[in-house]
Amino acid sequence: MRKVLISGCLLGKKVRYDGGALAVADQIVERWRSEGRIVSVCPEVEAGMSIPRPPAEIFNGSGESVLNGEVDVIEKDGGKVTNDFLAGASIALNLCRKFDISIAVLAEFSPSCGSSAIYDGSFSGKKVPGMGVTAALLREHGVQVFNQYKIAEADKALIGKSV
Ligand code: SF4
Repeated sequence: MRKVLISGCLLGKKVRYDGGALAVADQIVERWRSEGRIVSVCPEVEAGMSIPRPPAEIFNGSGESVLNGEVDVIEKDGGKVTNDFLAGASIALNLCRKFDISIAVLAEFSPSCGSSAIYDGSFSGKKVPGMGVTAALLREHGVQVFNQYKIAEADKALIGKSV
C-alpha cells in the first residue's frame, strides 16, 4: 500500500506559526486515512521550531535558492531561520525514504511546504510563483508534490503507482 506524505496542518494539527491548523475536509484524504496511507509531517515543528512562532518568509528567492545557499529564510523580526527550514526539509525527505513515498500533498504558500506559490519576503501578503524549502527538496529527489487544491490529482498519481 503506497503511502502519501501530508502537511500536518492540512490534517488538522495545530502546528502553524500562529498555533492554528489549515484542516481540509476532503473525502479522498479520509479514504487515505482509512487505508492507512497517510504519513504526517510538519517540517518546521519537526526541526524544533515552537508553536506559535514568528512568521517567516523566504527573502527574495524560493526554496531552490535556499537549498543552493543563495538566500535565507527570515522571520518577520529579522531572525534568520534558514538552518531550521533546511533541517525540516531533510526530515521530510527522510520520511519519504523510510516509507518509500513518492507523492506528497503540502500546504500551499508556506515557506516550507508551498509548491506553486510562496510569499515574497516582504511580509506584505504578496505572493510570487515559487516553492518552499521542503517542497523544493522533495521535488529535487523525485517526489511529486501537490497542494491542497490538487488532492484529486495526487490521488490519481498515487493510484497509478499503487500495488
Ligand atoms: S511547515 Fe508545512 S506542515 Fe508545518 S505548519 Fe507550515 S505549512 Fe503546515
